[in-house]
Amino acid sequence: MTAQDYDVVVVGAGFAGLTAARELTWSGRRVLLLEARDRIGGRTWLDRHLGLDIELGGTWVHWIQPFVWAELHRYGLGLVPSPEPVAAWRPVDGRPAPITPDALLDLLDAPNQELGRAAREVFPQPFSPLQSEQGALLDDALLIDRLDALDLDEERRSLLRSFWALNFNGRLDDAAYTQALRWLAVANGDWRVLFEACASYKIAGGTRALVEAILSDTNADLRLGADVASITDRPDSLIVGLADGSSVSTASVIVTAPLHALGRIRFEPELPVDTVRTLDTGQVGLGTKIWFSVDGEQPHFVAFGEHDAPLNFLQSEYHIDGRTIVIGFGPDAHAIDASDRSTVQQAVDRLVDGLTVIEVAGHDWTSDPLSGETWPMHRAGYLKSGLPAMRTAHGRIVFAGSDFADGWGGFIDGAIESGLTAARSILNLQPSGSAAARVPNSTSHDQESS
Ligand SMILES: Cc1cc2nc3c(=O)[nH]c(=O)nc-3n(C[C@H](O)[C@H](O)[C@H](O)COP(=O)(O)OP(=O)(O)OC[C@H]3O[C@@H](n4cnc5c(N)ncnc54)[C@H](O)[C@@H]3O)c2cc1C
Repeated sequence: MTAQDYDVVVVGAGFAGLTAARELTWSGRRVLLLEARDRIGGRTWLDRHLGLDIELGGTWVHWIQPFVWAELHRYGLGLVPSPEPVAAWRPVDGRPAPITPDALLDLLDAPNQELGRAAREVFPQPFSPLQSEQGALLDDALLIDRLDALDLDEERRSLLRSFWALNFNGRLDDAAYTQALRWLAVANGDWRVLFEACASYKIAGGTRALVEAILSDTNADLRLGADVASITDRPDSLIVGLADGSSVSTASVIVTAPLHALGRIRFEPELPVDTVRTLDTGQVGLGTKIWFSVDGEQPHFVAFGEHDAPLNFLQSEYHIDGRTIVIGFGPDAHAIDASDRSTVQQAVDRLVDGLTVIEVAGHDWTSDPLSGETWPMHRAGYLKSGLPAMRTAHGRIVFAGSDFADGWGGFIDGAIESGLTAARSILNLQPSGSAAARVPNSTSHDQESS
């Protein structure tokens, strides 16, 4: 037995933390997973609302996402397609106007192809964004300026803005051009493939099936309801302090709290200036995802609204008991009370004619202190200083999570990538570890709720 309680403490049991814990236990490390919530999965959450199991957070995955695809294959999980839309809407002169889905995509095609070509040039190796000299040079550029500089008629300009506000799940004011290019680059510069990756294929059994598969493949101890308040570097070990006053000693820590939740943890010694600045700057993805049911089995549809509307994108997903279940996204969680049916009805009326909202459901990720954001989409300047700062270990503390991934940052894929990277960093820091015997099975992890 070594002096510390654990070789590694992993803070957060989302995809990044679970992946890191699994990798480390497979390498014989004694690992404790501390999760503040009463469930695993983090910003993915399959939960029962509106009469069915729905994904309140991260949902869609794709075979061009290498890390999540490998995990699905590893655990034998398949895909469930979202329905193909047969109808579409977009705003014309401030009113919803119908259009065919193909015509809608055609309106977006030329400008997004141009952005896709730029993405391949600027990020020829999309999983090495920090190696791109052009990326560094362009890092202060704003996406909105680049979109407005394209030679587009008003309809295309408005639709393109809305498409990117959807991707950012946030206001475009200081959204980084490089962030948009990075998304396109990982999709090989093909915006249609990117769009498909973002909203077409769900995990069979939901995200819960994959997080449970990863958890059952590690013998890490798991504590739910364990809110980490401090991490203190002592000469012989790191002390992880919980909000309930208890503490754990460990040789290393991986922190997977999202960028907007990291400020709740007190570090001693304090984090370096660049890291603190990155936390203070935050990111743009502060929007909303809501679910609602509408009367009747509507033909499956998608709808874009104005980029700064309370809801700027709708996608119908299920038919159940004579109702249609729809997902809505908006760029600013504070601009809409997603729990209020009549407010949602007003927002929906701006995008589609003739829908009657019956019931609403969702989770406010932006107000939730354990996330503080939806998916991370970065501001101008992040590549030059933010990402390098977050990728630098703070002594024996490593930061991980989808917010700091190289490739599909912002996605489940990026969280898994980052968990693997963090585990490798720890194994490099602790080449031998305590080499505790690894006995993973579905019941071996010690799951407690405090
Ligand atoms: C509405 C929404 C829609 C999305 N849609 C998609 C999609 O369709 N496809 C896709 O690929 N991705 C999507 N994403 C993004 C994806 O869900 C995330 O990028 C990914 O799940 C993040 O995983 P993570 O492990 O990095 O972080 P998280 O899942 O946030 O995990 C971090 C964990 O740390 C815990 N934690 C935080 N602070 C503490 C603390 N002090 N002590 C202990 N525990 C703490 C949190 O509770 C959380 O469980 C979406 C996200 C949202 C919110």
